[in-house]
Amino acid sequence: MKICIDCQKDVSGMRAVRIKEDRIIGFIRKVKTAMKIAKGNELYVCEDDLPKHLERRKSFEKTMVIFTVLAAIIVLLLLVTILLSGRIELWTVASAILIGVLLLLFSLVFKYVPAVENTEPVQVSGGLPAKKKRRKKKRGE
Ligand SMILES: [Zn+2]
Repeated sequence: MKICIDCQKDVSGMRAVRIKEDRIIGFIRKVKTAMKIAKGNELYVCEDDLPKHLERRKSFEKTMVIFTVLAAIIVLLLLVTILLSGRIELWTVASAILIGVLLLLFSLVFKYVPAVENTEPVQVSGGLPAKKKRRKKKRGE
């Protein structure tokens, strides 16, 4: 099915924009497939939700910047603490970095607002694959 990710409605026959299939979408899809909750939907944003979606995407991008900075600060603080304690062991350093990565991953999965391919909604074809009439190039034969 072709669904709007914001209102969960079927967008067949409506005007909508496609979601960009980026690595995070691919990752979420894989997780869902592994958990057997994937529906194999094609993801869109319908015309009505597009302005809202673009705003959410913008604020998501800002949030991600803040989260990245916060995660970096936390990792740095942990590393400094480890250094000051004088007990530099590989696993403590690794776990500090892991905490930072996990923080980022959590914020990504729960707050992710995917990008759209373009901002001009187009007519989405119905459930059947769009069969456009092939233009005969040999005209006048
Ligand atoms: Zn919608």
